[in-house]
Amino acid sequence: MSKILIIEDEEAIADLEKDYLELSGFQVEIENDGEKGLDAAMNESFDLIILDLMLPGIDGFEICRRIRDEKNIPILMVSAKKDDIDKIRGLGLGADDYMTKPFSPSELVARVKAHLARYTRLVSSNQKTNDIVEIRGIRIDKTARRVFINGVEKPFTTKEFDLLTFLAENPNHVFTKEELFREIWDMDSIGDIATVTVHIKKIREKIEKDTANPQYIETIWGVGYRFKV
Ligand code: CA
Repeated sequence: MSKILIIEDEEAIADLEKDYLELSGFQVEIENDGEKGLDAAMNESFDLIILDLMLPGIDGFEICRRIRDEKNIPILMVSAKKDDIDKIRGLGLGADDYMTKPFSPSELVARVKAHLARYTRLVSSNQKTNDIVEIRGIRIDKTARRVFINGVEKPFTTKEFDLLTFLAENPNHVFTKEELFREIWDMDSIGDIATVTVHIKKIREKIEKDTANPQYIETIWGVGYRFKV
């Protein structure tokens, strides 16, 4: 649930905004003066702030500037005077939106939703998740190039990692040693298909409980290997 802070000294307006936002499923907190508002904004975790311009204590200009120095959450500034809104825009304080009082509560809710949606998209696009391949106790983190066997990390060389990942990403497909060699080693590599056998052996020592009876990479005699699922 998104948490919204309203910094507004006119209690009737703050209560009205709160009611409408709560009806739309938001969690809302109100602060009635500038100092308490700034303190809450800086020390608590909110998803959006509705900030009145004229406030006792610290005014909305200063609060907006101070929040922006530390946080990039959406700030919606409201003022009773159209001239003030123009002034705020001109100052480039970093507010995301401006509304002139009186405004309809449904207009406020619509803008809050739009800014939260935009902000959520922005935040989630910055959080890159790792590309993971997971099969029966083997966890391959392709992004970090790390391998965990039943939760325990095992060291893999570059080619061992590439070979294991390729097989695990193509389960139940039988590959010949030639195919694997072409896939993992570039054409100019020194070596031959025996390299594949050596690498499979090393991978098995890291991932199999019993290398004589492999549970993951199966040898298909006379053909090659396949990763069992
Ligand atoms: Ca005010």
